[in-house]
Amino acid sequence: ALMITDECINCDVCEPECPNDAISAGEEIYVIDPNLCTECVGHYDEPQCQQVCPVDCIPLDPERRETRDELMTKYRLITAA
Ligand code: SF4
Ligand code: SF4
Repeated sequence: ALMITDECINCDVCEPECPNDAISAGEEIYVIDPNLCTECVGHYDEPQCQQVCPVDCIPLDPERRETRDELMTKYRLITAA
């Protein structure tokens, strides 16, 4: 999963781009639900939020490293629900 750092400027550009609705406005900055973020696997070749963020504040979450297979499994679970 990806994560949003405190450099976020709350511009709201990323939220509508997420195919999994994993991004929302948190109390101070935007947040990604790691249980819904597939790093865009299953939908796109590249993480869409990273592509549009004007301040590049959406890195990989070091606490939530996943293989492509794990991300694809998550994608299947989300889309089957
Ligand atoms: Fe959503 Fe893709 Fe960004 Fe994850 S990488 S939060 S799935 S847009
Ligand atoms: Fe924050 Fe970047 Fe999303 Fe804008 S695009 S709300 S700066 S994470």
